[in-house]
Amino acid sequence: MKDQEPFIIAGPCAAESREQMLLSAQEALKRDIEAVRLSLWKPRTKPGFKGIGDKGIPVLLEVAQMGVQPATEIMLPQHANRIMEGVLAKDSTARVILWLGARNQNDLIQHDIGKIIAGEPRVTLMIKNPMWPDKNHWRGIVEHVLSAGASPSQLLLCHRGFAPSSREFRNPPDLNMALSLKYDLQAEFGFPVPLLIDPSHISGEPPERVIETAIELITQADGLIIEVHPNPPAALTDQNQQLNWHQFDEMLRKIAEVAKSGAKSTQTYYNAI
Ligand code: PEP
Ligand code: MN
Repeated sequence: MKDQEPFIIAGPCAAESREQMLLSAQEALKRDIEAVRLSLWKPRTKPGFKGIGDKGIPVLLEVAQMGVQPATEIMLPQHANRIMEGVLAKDSTARVILWLGARNQNDLIQHDIGKIIAGEPRVTLMIKNPMWPDKNHWRGIVEHVLSAGASPSQLLLCHRGFAPSSREFRNPPDLNMALSLKYDLQAEFGFPVPLLIDPSHISGEPPERVIETAIELITQADGLIIEVHPNPPAALTDQNQQLNWHQFDEMLRKIAEVAKSGAKSTQTYYNAI
């Protein structure tokens, strides 16, 4: 992780085609961010486009070889296996970020994924909070993957807010809870587990609100995962909340301005450390 700067994963909600994936990776590379979001297997609230799926695995390898880490949600243990075989086994320099999403609350799956990535430091596993606001359950996901052999140093936490939606938020955040889990884990492991926020799923549309949410919450977190599409009006999922790359640049500029001014969030969050 780059010191002092937010850890950023940016890219489309769903990986849609090889062209869209490579274009997104080029944009991420230009900006020297840590990872490009390229979610192959999208969980859907209702039936719809589910991401490019297995066909995207060789593209993730291409992206890793371009020099930027791909990041994707894995819904099933076989997805993790396919990435181990199709990306990591093919190139010893490749690294990936995988994540367990808010809807993936089956502890057998969590355990098996922990087992598959165990002993592979080139895999980072991001644990998003569950849909409902229960710190103990969120922590339980961490414990399931660790009990299967994953290492604390492989983990990231991600706060994406909690259902149900409110007038202001698609998924209202509880940064106190997220930070409290981060600090509990830090006390246990003896080193900090980075906490990312997901302003796209916290805020929901329009992109201007996503940007405001990112600017507000980033002061409390270590980084963010954000949806950025090369052409949002043509996006196949979450069309109205994705930023374009120009908006992303504007957001980074504003975040840097706030950081420079030393301004603190107007909200009061947990400050155990
Ligand atoms: C996502 O990040 O694409 C996603 C589905 O989010 P969540 O798991 O937080 O709902
Ligand atoms: Mn989305």
